Amino acid sequence: MKQSQKKKIEWTQFLSSVPAGDYIFQNIPYEEQIERASGSIKNAEIILIGAGAGASTAAGLMYSGERFTSNFSEFIEKYGSMYMTDMYASGFYPFPTQEAKWGYWSKHSMINRFLPPALPLYKQLYEIIKGKDYFVLTTNVDHQFQKAGFQPERIFATQGDYGNIQCEKGCHPKIYDAEDLFQQMDQARHDCLVPSYMVPKCPVCGGNMTMHLRCDQYFVEDENWHEAANHYYSFLKRMENKEAVLLELGVGFNTPTIIRFPFEKMVRENKKLSLIRLNMNEAFVPESFGNRAIGIDGDMAKAVSDLSGYIMSGGKVGA
Ligand SMILES: [Zn+2]
Repeated sequence: MKQSQKKKIEWTQFLSSVPAGDYIFQNIPYEEQIERASGSIKNAEIILIGAGAGASTAAGLMYSGERFTSNFSEFIEKYGSMYMTDMYASGFYPFPTQEAKWGYWSKHSMINRFLPPALPLYKQLYEIIKGKDYFVLTTNVDHQFQKAGFQPERIFATQGDYGNIQCEKGCHPKIYDAEDLFQQMDQARHDCLVPSYMVPKCPVCGGNMTMHLRCDQYFVEDENWHEAANHYYSFLKRMENKEAVLLELGVGFNTPTIIRFPFEKMVRENKKLSLIRLNMNEAFVPESFGNRAIGIDGDMAKAVSDLSGYIMSGGKVGA
C-alpha cells in the first residue's frame, strides 16, 4: 500500500524530546482506510481501545456551542460570558463559595454524566469489539463506555468520573458516589447556588470535597482505581506475542502521555501490533509504522458507523 506525504508535521519543537517527528497524514482514500481498518479489527485476536475527549465530542457530548449556552444560560448570565465560554472553561471558574461551586458542578455532572444515555458511537463501538478480548484505556470521565455495555473490569478510566467526589486534599484514599446528591442539588439549585446544608464535607478531615477529576496532586487513586490499573497491566501482558490492534479514538495533545504516546511506543517496539487512529484533524501517524498504521481523519461518528457497517455486514462503506 503506497503512503505518500501530504503534509509533514513537526511537533518536536514544542513537544520537546518526544520522538514524533515522522508524523504524516496518510494519503489513502477514506473507503480504503475503512476497508483496511475493518479487516484488521476482524482479524485481531485482541484489541486495546484508547479513548480521549474527541470520542465523546464526536458522540454528541459537545462542551461548547448551543449545548452549552442552552443548558448554562443562567450561569453565563451570572458569571459573565467572558469566563463562561464553554463547559471546559467554566469548570475552572474560581467559584467564590462552596454553594456556587456545587451549583455549577452538579449541573455539569447531570448534563454530561447522568442524563445522557449510552450514545450511538459508543454502542456501535461495543458491537464491533464485544466478541473479542478487549480493554479500554480512557481519559474520559463521562461513563459512556460502561453505559454502552463494556465490562467494568475491562475499563481503566485514569482521570476520574463525573459521578464521584473526593476530599479536596485527598486526605484518605476513598471516593464517594454523588448521584443522589447531584440529583438533589439539581432540584434545589436557585440562582446557580445550592443550599448550604447540601454542601458535602469530608467525613475524615471535615474539609471541603471536590469532584473526582485529576486536576492536581490531590487526585485520589482508590482501591478500584488500582485494581483497574492492574487489569490494564495484565491485559498488556496478554497482548504480548499476539496480533493485536490498538484502536485510538479522539486522543489529542492535552494529555498525550497517557494514551497517544504510549500507544505509539508499543507499536514502535512490537511488530505484531498495529494502530488505528481516529481523530478530527490530528489523525497523523508515524510514517515509520508503514502499513501497521491507519490514520482516519475527520468525523469519527461517521467512521465508527462505517467500520461497524463494514464489519457487521461485510458491505460497502456508506451502503
Ligand atoms: Zn479530608
